[in-house]
Amino acid sequence: MHEYSIVQALIALVEAEAAERGATKVHALRVGLGELAGVEPSLLSTAFETFRERTICAGADLNLRRIPAQWSCPRCALEILRGAPLQCSGCGGPARLVQGDELVLESIDLEVN
Ligand SMILES: [Zn+2]
Repeated sequence: MHEYSIVQALIALVEAEAAERGATKVHALRVGLGELAGVEPSLLSTAFETFRERTICAGADLNLRRIPAQWSCPRCALEILRGAPLQCSGCGGPARLVQGDELVLESIDLEVN
C-alpha cells in the first residue's frame, strides 16, 4: 500500500535525524499533509502504528497537520478562492497550486541524553 512506503521513508528520515543528534528516543513527530497529497490520514496513522515497532519511533506519536489546498495565479499572484474555477479572475490564466500536495516532516520531538 502507498501509505506503507511513505511511512517507511518517514521513519528512515527520523532515524537519520535522531542518529545525527545522538537521540535515544523519539517522543513525537509532526507531519504536514496536504489535502491533495493523495494520502489518507487514517491509513497513514495505521501504517505508522504498524511500522514504528522495533524502530526508534516505537512509542512515538504521529501528529498530522492537514494543509488545505491553495491556488493562485502565477502571473498576477491573485489568490483563487476555494471552490472557484481554477482560472485567474484577473488575466484568465491557469491557476497554479501553491500548497496542498505536500507531505513534509515538520518537527521531531527527540530525547537526547
Ligand atoms: Zn492572473
